[in-house]
Formats: sequence, C-alpha cells, structure tokens
Amino acid sequence: MSLLTVEGLRAGYGQARVLHGVDLEIGEGEAVVVLGANGAGKTTTMRALAGLLPYEGTIQLEGRPLGGLRPDAVVSRGVSLVPQGRGTFPHLTVLENLHVGAALRRDKAGIREDVDRWCSVFPVLAERTGQAAGTLSGGEQQMLAVARALMSRPRLLLCDEPSLGLAPRIVAELFDILATVNREQGVSMLLVEQNAELALGLANRVYLLEVGRVIASGTAGEFRGDESVRRAYLGY
Ligand code: ATP
Repeated sequence: MSLLTVEGLRAGYGQARVLHGVDLEIGEGEAVVVLGANGAGKTTTMRALAGLLPYEGTIQLEGRPLGGLRPDAVVSRGVSLVPQGRGTFPHLTVLENLHVGAALRRDKAGIREDVDRWCSVFPVLAERTGQAAGTLSGGEQQMLAVARALMSRPRLLLCDEPSLGLAPRIVAELFDILATVNREQGVSMLLVEQNAELALGLANRVYLLEVGRVIASGTAGEFRGDESVRRAYLGY
C-alpha cells in the first residue's frame, strides 16, 4: 500500500487558486522529488500536506485521511515538514531546538536516544549542542532544521528546498545525509528542489509540477533519459 496518496489537491491564497488538482503518491521507503519552475505551487503543495493551508481534494496516509487535521495532528500522524527558509529558533540552543521537534512525544528515553542518533548522523550538530541556533552557519541551520523535523519520528519527511542559499559543498554534504536518512534510517521523503541534478541523485521518482498541475511523472532514470526534460531542467 502506498504511504501517502494525494488526489485532486486544490489550494490557494484567498481568491488566488494556486493548485488545480495535484495527484501524487509516495510508497513506503521512497524518496520522491517535485520539480517545477518558480511559482509552480511546490511550496503550496508542501504547506497543504503539512496541514498549514486549507485545501480541497484528498490526502491520505496509509489509506486514512489526513484532511482537516491541524499541523500538530499531522505531525503526530507521522508527517513532518522542514519548511523553506529553515525556521529554527535562533535564541534556543541546538539541543533545545531538537527537543522542540519532539514536543509531542512523551517517551523520554526514546527522545534521548533520538538526540544521540541524529547527532551521530549530523556530526556538525553533535559538536554544537549548547550553541544558540542563530549563531550557526546557514548549512548548519539547515542540518538542524532537518534533524529537528526528524525528532518527531516521522514516517514521511517533507523537505522544502533544503539546498536554498547554501554553498555547493554544504549542499552535497546535506544530500548525502538525506540519502542516509532515507536509505539507512528508513524515513520516506518528499522533496521540493530547484536543483534537479541534485534531486535526481537522491530520488527514486519525480513529479513535474507546472502552474498547479502535475504534467509528468516517472522514475529518476526516465527523467534523465527524456531529452526535453533534460534540456529544460538539467540544462544539457
Ligand atoms: P518557488 O520555487 O519560487 O518557491 P513554488 O513552486 O514553491 O515556487 P509557491 O510558493 O507554491 O511556488 O507559490 C505559488 C504561487 O502562489 C505563486 O504565484 C505565489 O506568488 C503565490 N503565493 C505564495 N504564497 C502566497 C501567499 N501567502 N499569498 C498569496 N499568494 C501566494
């Protein structure tokens, strides 16, 4: 059974309709990427999935509707968002930020275990647990944002343009870690990413979003093999 099924998702801001019926599916253990030009509706899709925006259509997790839930209820069902622009708490320490990610959990021993687990997956955080998040570099803050989202023990991690504004070396490191989180820690992922080359390296499958609609989907290999897609999104 698929982990997440989205059918006919329509959403927008006031009168401005942005999504005109998006369909997508994520299987257990998959890493799926949504590609699309600026303004295609990628962030809007992520926000609707995370319960941050009203929508029409259906969103189901393991066959049960996620619809109408508040953001914290979506998190407790196992879906956690890393928002665009990170959104860590700058005045809290790295460790405190990680604990915020676990705010809905009551299993203290499990939370401690997960802090250790994610600090070993994200070594830059292990060295800085007592440091205020606002004093971290951009790359370190992005790592913290991902680790914080993982602290809720999500089945599905939603990552909205994690590479934005980061130096190429840091981006490569971050994507290596995301691959580890997906393949070794078994967290399914939906990723929005402008850098198609990078995204195709991580993703099993791809959806192409254009003006609020999915216009194509396929495996990462199929996308690389399609000349028009390659020219438009990979530039060669
Ligand atoms: P980008 O890559 O630039 O982030 P995107 O595909 O993520 O693009 P969205 O952020 O989902 O696109 O935006 C889709 C459309 O919705 C855009 O035309 C944008 O101007 C509009 N939009 C986004 N946020 C709001 C808002 N809070 N109020 C009104 N319109 C918005």
